Amino acid sequence: MTGRKAIPPKVKQLLRQEVGFGCPVRGCGNPYLEYHHFDPPVNIRPHNDPEGMIALCAQHHKKADGGAYTVEQLHALKKDKANAAHVKGNLDWLRRDLLAVVGGNFYYETPRIIEVDGIEVVSLHRDEDGYLRLSVNMLSLLPQERIIIESNSWERIGNPLDLRSPPQGKELEVMYSNGDCLHLRFIELDSLESAIKRYSTDIFKSLSFPITAVEVNFSVAGTNINLTPTSTTLGGLQMTGSMMSRCGTGVCLRTGTKWLQNSKVQTKSADRVVDVSDNVLRVDFRRS
Ligand SMILES: [Zn+2]
Repeated sequence: MTGRKAIPPKVKQLLRQEVGFGCPVRGCGNPYLEYHHFDPPVNIRPHNDPEGMIALCAQHHKKADGGAYTVEQLHALKKDKANAAHVKGNLDWLRRDLLAVVGGNFYYETPRIIEVDGIEVVSLHRDEDGYLRLSVNMLSLLPQERIIIESNSWERIGNPLDLRSPPQGKELEVMYSNGDCLHLRFIELDSLESAIKRYSTDIFKSLSFPITAVEVNFSVAGTNINLTPTSTTLGGLQMTGSMMSRCGTGVCLRTGTKWLQNSKVQTKSADRVVDVSDNVLRVDFRRS
């Protein structure tokens, strides 16, 4: 390091937003972003000035360090959201045994963890190789795209305010401007003691350690669906620190709410896209 201070979180967020949360080099779109100083390079002057920085994936960051792109090209790429529509990634942690910590409650060998109005909001299923894979369907009261995680891979992020996915593939945080948000993280619990320390309970003491936990928290703006690290609020139901083991379904709720996420109507036959977002009908006649 050259005496430069750590990059402030706000600067990182701005740089991620600029490129639409995916590496802006043509054909890339990798969501695991690093931060490159180029105008001036830090060996000329240590700085964290977002004007002279760009978010790039690790591979293209190395190339930029090697001089592959000119300063002008990097300034142009900074403003380029061309890859935003293709941003997708993977949660790379595959385990045969997982403790799911969802909204401060514990679920073990429970495939359908939270189901709301027939939607499997958080679930785990075992793939043919025996690994447990996570799926999350976010809910929203707005007719906008919300991230979908299907068997550990995620895409269709819509238009988030911020999306953070560190390169280790163990964490994902996404926030939307209306307040909808999702945070998930895989974490190794070496021993019962380390689990007790993290969660302040020994409710899971019958499990064998070490074990990997996947922590899932989210909230749906305008509803009382709020899953925090310490408690789950789902409508009138509030749960804290309970353990469900070997249940088919953990929590199943009927609210009668009209969920509007991911309601984009696509009519391909007329070669146009009808977008019903925000209750405004936009018709986009695509040119080929
Ligand atoms: Zn890249």
